[in-house]
Amino acid sequence: AERARLAASTGPGRTADGHPVKLLLNIGSAKDLRPGAEGVGLFRTEFLFLDRTRAPSFEEQVSAYTEVFEQAESVIVRTLDAGTDKPLPFLGLPEEANPALGVRGLRVDRLLPRVLDTQLDAIAAAARATGREAWVMAPMVTTVEEAAAFARRARAMGIAKVGAMVEVPAAALRAGQLLREVDFLSIGTNDLAQYTFAADRQHSALADLLDPRQPALLELIALCAEAGRQAGKPVGVCGEAAGDPQLAPLLAGLGVTSLSMAPICVPAVRDALAALTLEECRQRARAALA
Ligand code: PEP
Ligand code: MG
Repeated sequence: AERARLAASTGPGRTADGHPVKLLLNIGSAKDLRPGAEGVGLFRTEFLFLDRTRAPSFEEQVSAYTEVFEQAESVIVRTLDAGTDKPLPFLGLPEEANPALGVRGLRVDRLLPRVLDTQLDAIAAAARATGREAWVMAPMVTTVEEAAAFARRARAMGIAKVGAMVEVPAAALRAGQLLREVDFLSIGTNDLAQYTFAADRQHSALADLLDPRQPALLELIALCAEAGRQAGKPVGVCGEAAGDPQLAPLLAGLGVTSLSMAPICVPAVRDALAALTLEECRQRARAALA
């Protein structure tokens, strides 16, 4: 029993009865990498370039992505998520009255398509240089058409696996159709809660609405997980909810295949999963939905 406990405190994510749930890291650069997880589930590339007034060159990007690929075996790179809480001065985007509902994430591509082309090219080059398979996902995907166009572009650039983040209720409702176009989904519960409950994610007076235990949010997550099960494709969660040890078993019970979190959260989430069987996780999920 002691050996099993020790294995559970360092090994891959598993429920008490051995059902795998991958434990992945959210990082902003290679400096955030820590041992003990099974890879990177969210590499927030905009953090590399937040305070820049000039666009990062292709070469600079290749070197930043190479640094991460060299140190982590499996990495999901998110393309630039600019806008609202993360303005990128070098993009020179016009001011908006309502930035959370404006040109952010993948939508920046409507105004500045070269930015995404350069980034996809740089990610593919870094993957080739390090012998890794490039997994890339776009933030703020809203429609199936957007996902299909992103997948076409990314594959043409040599990206091996293409994914869409689910951060907008419209995307969650069409998860099954999205999965005909992309290889995986990653649910960003921070933004998905913001847009589901029409409540600014930074607004402390609205924290109860943004609580990831809200059944409406859980129902959208369940819908995505079920679409993933039917398609035989991975569906993870990479919002803050994934790093909460009380929520992690519930998310596993809803059927998500990976949880991506701040490195500091990994041990507690691993322990929380190891304490319950998959059926117990499902019971929690059913109770929360009810
Ligand atoms: C999210 O929205 O849940 C997410 C993971 O992306 P970010 O927090 O970077 O917006
Ligand atoms: Mg987000």
